[in-house]
Order: sequence, then structure tokens, then C-alpha cells
Amino acid sequence: MTQPRRISILGATGSIGQNTIDLVARDPDAYDVVALTGGRNIARLAADALALHAEVAVTCHEDALPELRAALAGSSVEAAAGDAALVEAARRPADWVMSAIVGYAGLAPGLAALEGGATLALANKESMVCAGALMLETARRSGGRILPVDSEHSAVFQALIGEDISAVERVVITASGGAFRDWPIERLAGATPEQASTHPNWAMGQRITIDSASMFNKALELIETREFFGLDPDRIETVVHPESLIHALVGFTDGAFMAHVGPPDMRHAIGFALHHPQRRALPVARLDLAAIGTLTFRPADETRWPALRLAREVMHRRGLSGAVFNAAKEAALDAFIERQIGFQQMSQVVEHVLDRVSAQAGLDDAVIDLDKVRAADHLARQLAAEFISQQ
Ligand code: NAD
Ligand code: MG
Repeated sequence: MTQPRRISILGATGSIGQNTIDLVARDPDAYDVVALTGGRNIARLAADALALHAEVAVTCHEDALPELRAALAGSSVEAAAGDAALVEAARRPADWVMSAIVGYAGLAPGLAALEGGATLALANKESMVCAGALMLETARRSGGRILPVDSEHSAVFQALIGEDISAVERVVITASGGAFRDWPIERLAGATPEQASTHPNWAMGQRITIDSASMFNKALELIETREFFGLDPDRIETVVHPESLIHALVGFTDGAFMAHVGPPDMRHAIGFALHHPQRRALPVARLDLAAIGTLTFRPADETRWPALRLAREVMHRRGLSGAVFNAAKEAALDAFIERQIGFQQMSQVVEHVLDRVSAQAGLDDAVIDLDKVRAADHLARQLAAEFISQQ
């Protein structure tokens, strides 16, 4: 029998984390679970840590430590809390680490796992957006590697197996169009957080679901594509594909298009990263093409979704502009959820912050480190807060 693999799941209580646990729990002898991390859902975190015999369970909220300790009392699972504990847990030696914390908060723990030489299964797209070059460089130095878990990037990765990147003419990232794709544009001003929190095809965390409605999710994914695969921005496109069955297409110089087709179930991309370089059977639905009948596509309209236009600017500028873009987006999303600004104002916040920061030196620095990313993130959030308070 082969040795169990040491694995950690960062953001274990979320949508991606729970899908990862679903796969891991089907084959418990194959894994030694090192760390599970979560937030306020202590009952979920503790139950999974006990069931999987984790070494340590960490909540990011320090005030939740007594509750976590109580829930784990009498077991061998260690309890810890706070951002430093999160990074410490991520740094514990592991073969494979799922990075599934939502937002900028996922960057430092993911980097810590990479520094230890782990294979990082990357759902946290914000890491690549904020610090793509730093992520890749850290993996290169430590002998670790990054496997994409975002469904589109997993699809591109799979289409590229055995191919030469210099033969890639274009990559097309598909977009469902989110909750408002069929709304008349005039209605968008009145869209509420509740309306934006439903997705036509995927069950996901609330933040990424709202980002799907605004296309900020796709904007992040375009930047992630640029950073992860090192492609020229002019070779990266998006198209609206309401059925969400083709996740991405890679076009080659001979005119061939390789499409990745699969059910909208994140366990496919998670399982691919878990078993890579093998392919193993996964408990996802099999598609019946005759029953599906038709796959449709429409242009991604940058007037309806200004986030796509802003993403293009970031893909060209690189440096710290991704960190600024993401931080302004996170601040705008918080303000929308709290009803301080309307749906369409989210992109105005991001555009304003990008314009303001462009005036400052150093944004397009080629070499970035975590301190510079932190400073850019902080500045962007400050500028976003000022702008939001004037609305
Ligand atoms: P989610 O909201 O369901 O879960 C987020 C997890 O992160 C939870 O465990 C939560 O406790 C933890 N968390 C939240 N804030 C934190 C903080 N400040 N510090 C530490 N931990 C914190 O989110 P999700 O939908 O699972 O998405 C996770 C990541 O995966 C995101 O980056 C998202 O863009 C990406 N992703 C998700 C999907 C999907 O289908 N859900 C698909 C592709 C990519
Ligand atoms: Mg995606």
C-alpha cells in the first residue's frame, strides 16, 4: 500500500472546501489530514476536523478560539485562531494543500504552503490576481507547484497537456453571464444583493456568486489566465455561454479548438488537481449530449459588464495593478452587500481607484513582494472607502 498523502484544506468550511472534503472522505485511508481552516462556522470546522482526524483546526477569528477549543475538547485535534495561526498551519509540511479561502485573505496562507514545497491546488484566484509572479516564483524556488482549480483554468490546463504553449493562438474563457445576463441593462441600477446572490448554474459562496453577476469574477479569471499561463493579453478572450458546460477553449495555430466540456460541478476540477497526474473516477454527473441538444454563445458586452474592460487594463499593466484592482473590488463588493452603493457603482469604485493609484509611482513594478502587495491592497481599500463614503 502506498503511504497516505499529507493534505491540508484552507477554507475547509466553504463551498470549495466542502467539495474537497467530500472527495477526501470517500477514500479516508489515502490521506493524512494536517490542517483544516475556517471562519465563524465552528460546528462545521470541528465536525470535519474530528471526522478526518486532522492535526489542527484553525479559525481566522481569534474571538472564536474558546468555542473551537470546546468543540474539540477530549480529542487529539489542536485548536488555533487568528491570521498568524492560519499561516503557521498552512506552513506545516504537506504534500497537497487546497487554497480555498475567499479573497485576498487567501494569499499569505497559500504562499506559506508553497514555501514549504507543497503542491497548491489553487481555487483562490485572488492569489494569482494580486501576486501571480510572486506565487509562481515561490513555487519555482521551493520545488512546489500550483495546479489551477478554478474550472476555466483547470480546463485550459487540461487542454494544454502535451501541447507546446508557443502553438497557442488564443484562450477563450467562458462566462455564464450570472444572475442578470438576461436583464435589460436599465434594470441593473436597481439590482439588490439578494438578486445578485443567485446563480443560474453553479452553487458557490455568496461573494463569488455576486462577482459572477457583475462579471468581476470573469475579470479576475482573465487576469488569472494571463498570470498563470503567461499569455499575451490579446490572446485571452471571453464569451458568454449560458449553459456553463464548456469551461474554456484553447485555439491552436493550426486552427483547432480544444474545448473542455463537463458538468458544472467543482468536484471535477478539485478531483483533477487532487489526483494529478493521474485521472481517477469522480462522482460527477455524466453529460447526455443528445438530451442537452444545443450549446449557445454570445458576445460578452463591455458596456453591460465594465469589469471586463478594467481587467484588460490590468492584464496589460501587471505589477501591482492586480492587487489594487482586487482590493478595490473587495471593498466595492462589501459596500454593495451593505447597500451603501448600487450594483453598477461597484465598477465605478474600481475604475476610480485604479485611476487614482495610476498617478502614483511604482504600480507597474515588475518585481513584487508580499510587502508591496500589502501596501497596494491597503492603499486601494483606503481610496475605495473614501470614494464610497462620498456616494
Ligand atoms: P466560501 O465563501 O464558500 O468559503 C470561503 C472559505 O474561506 C470559508 O471556509 C471561510 O471560513 C474562509 N474565510 C473567509 N474569510 C476568511 C478570512 N478573512 N481569513 C481566513 N479564512 C476566511 O467561498 P468559495 O465559494 O468556496 O470560494 C473560495 C475560493 O475559491 C474563492 O477564491 C473563489 O473565488 C474560488 N472559487 C470558488 C468556486 C466555487 O464554485 N465556489 C469556483 C471557482 C473558484
Ligand atoms: Mg471559475
